Amino acid sequence: MGTIRLYQGDITQAQTDAIVNAANPSLTGGGGVDGAIHRAAGPELLAACLQIAPVGGVRCPVGEARMTSAGKLAAKYVIHAVGPRYRLDPQPPRLLASAWYTSLQLALAQACRSVTFPAISCGVYAYPPAEAAQVALSVCRQPAFAGLAIDICLFSEEMLQIWQHAAAESP
Ligand code: ADP
Repeated sequence: MGTIRLYQGDITQAQTDAIVNAANPSLTGGGGVDGAIHRAAGPELLAACLQIAPVGGVRCPVGEARMTSAGKLAAKYVIHAVGPRYRLDPQPPRLLASAWYTSLQLALAQACRSVTFPAISCGVYAYPPAEAAQVALSVCRQPAFAGLAIDICLFSEEMLQIWQHAAAESP
């Protein structure tokens, strides 16, 4: 039975089939949650990312996601999702929804039963978190994903409250 659960924590500790990373298009690691996931997973994760052939210098376009093994993490897979930069990319809601949707589809395609997301784009990419939460939750609630246990890991108490508010507000 599908569930959507919001909690505060460190996503690198998640006990889940797939951890979603808020990656950048090169998939070569970075700061924020990306850096934390790569540090926790060890060099095997970067090696797995580098096996994805770049197309025009890009391993994963904005609004899409790619799946790899998970190195030393407890999860089986890492799904590297590239969300939009709020003030730079066109149509950020469409691209953010697409990043969540593609990630969930990849999880289903690999027969995952559980998947854990961070607040994609809500850090350096500066997406207003209340708006991001509405976009993300409406994708997670689609019937296609009703069989998945979806956890959303928020790093701070403040971020958790914003997402809980959005979940209570939207139908
Ligand atoms: P983006 O570039 O997509 O904005 P960031 O990594 O800058 O990605 O931030 C995305 C969200 O992940 C932010 O809310 C940030 O606070 C959060 N975050 C950072 N580290 C962790 C972690 N270890 N676990 C869960 N969330 C994290």
